[in-house]
Amino acid sequence: MSIDLDAVISDCPTQLFINGEFVDAVSGETFEVENPSDGSVLATVAKAGTEDATKALDAACAVQQEWAATAPRERAEILRRAFELLSERGEELAYIMSAELGRALPDSRGEVTYGAEFFRWFAEEAVRITGDYRITPAGGGRVVTTQQPVGPVLAITPWNFPLSMGTRKMGPALASGCTMVLKPASKTPLTMLYLARVLKEAGLPDGVVNIIPGSGSAASSLLEDSRLRKFTFTGSTEVGQSLHATAAEHSLGTSLELGGNAPFIVLEDADLDKAVEAVKVAKMRGAGQVCIAANRFIVHEKLYDAFCERVTELMGTYTVGRGTDEGVTVGPLSGDDQVETVSELVNDAIAQGARVLAGGSVYELEEELQEKGSYFPPTVLADVPRSARMATEEIFGPVVAIYKASSDQDAIDFGNDTIFGLAGYVFSENLERALGAGEAMQVGMVAINKGAISDPSAPFGGVKQSGVGREGGFEGINEYLETKLMALPEARL
Ligand code: NAP
Ligand code: MG
Repeated sequence: MSIDLDAVISDCPTQLFINGEFVDAVSGETFEVENPSDGSVLATVAKAGTEDATKALDAACAVQQEWAATAPRERAEILRRAFELLSERGEELAYIMSAELGRALPDSRGEVTYGAEFFRWFAEEAVRITGDYRITPAGGGRVVTTQQPVGPVLAITPWNFPLSMGTRKMGPALASGCTMVLKPASKTPLTMLYLARVLKEAGLPDGVVNIIPGSGSAASSLLEDSRLRKFTFTGSTEVGQSLHATAAEHSLGTSLELGGNAPFIVLEDADLDKAVEAVKVAKMRGAGQVCIAANRFIVHEKLYDAFCERVTELMGTYTVGRGTDEGVTVGPLSGDDQVETVSELVNDAIAQGARVLAGGSVYELEEELQEKGSYFPPTVLADVPRSARMATEEIFGPVVAIYKASSDQDAIDFGNDTIFGLAGYVFSENLERALGAGEAMQVGMVAINKGAISDPSAPFGGVKQSGVGREGGFEGINEYLETKLMALPEARL
């Protein structure tokens, strides 16, 4: 199916979504959204300030009680309808994401499926919120627990998955009966505004979800508002930790999905075909701008040369170009700021002795791609020293950084040598050894012999400084529920 991108973009809402209506910011301020494929302006979007944020929370608070009191089945059916609408319009939405993020269409199509699934999964969970009835150990009294929605939620989301980082929070929040104010990233506000219209069409009552693109400080001013009951953030560790500190001053329940530094560990007895295949998802999806992207390829010395060679071959199969062009498999990065960061990290590694096997600098791109847009070529660096900045910092680009390990234990130890603990990958043909490695890895999620980790039915989240809490799976809804105790007297006949 071919899509008229200009028509889709010009039809996309560009105002704030508050209390079921698209409205301008009180100040009348706007900001521009760029297409990183060529630097052109895609849309001009209303920019929420503090007053707008407060209006959004007013709307969420006004309907909180009523929304919490709706039948779980009714909430489930709204989510289910939204899932169906997103699926029907998936191609349109994939184009919007590829335009505002730059990402290649196959990856955006993948995100439509993944992002929409959170609505289906949590539609199914909405009707399975449970309680408990117990006898106190001393006999006599009864303990009854019930689960209630925590109340109005503030969500702040990043640009790298414009749809799913929102729906992964919204699905469980709505299923449990919470209302929400969501601030999308300024690079990618259109996806969430498009979603707002879909939710309205799916029958979501006014005020239950409010979307306020704009400044971070306007959104985070709500952390000071005592009506807010929950804060959920996905983004950089630095920003997340600073907002967490503010939330803590108000004892506000907080979930954080932060940065990672995923090790991709190839043990001595790994099957190289599986490891190389996994690079496609674990590294190249979204041009490497993924929090669970493999950041350090740690390869046993016995397989080292062969792995370097095979991955370099793989990089040659990618086509770099505009995200919305068919046939493109690696789009631009999300902006020139990202190209700058990735270039700095790569230059630092090279200066410290890393060998460039592919790519390595924007000058390796075709001239046209150097001139316009925010591109970085698929890159392979071998012999990266452990002192390189990229060994401790997130690369967020299509860069395979390969480190040599002298033994399996050395690989695990280096893998764990980071303040982060989001995801990890391990490759071994021996199940016991793979499981042993998986248990030893200090991360929230491990993929064994594959590159894909995320699934709506699986709990997503990190340990160490990669985050607090879990999204998706059976666990995800708990972030939006509070357990209430009803202490009952002795039961008598
Ligand atoms: P970011 O700079 O932290 O931004 C994330 C969100 O926070 C955006 O909406 C941003 O708004 C907002 N923000 C920035 N500064 C703020 C402030 N002082 N107060 C309130 N809000 C503020 O992160 P990013 O650059 O968009 O995303 C990349 C990072 O996200 C990476 O580190 C990646 O690992 C992480 N990430 C983690 C996960 C996960 O699940 N663990 C998933 C995806 C991404 P503006 O856009 O307006 O600046
Ligand atoms: Mg940022």
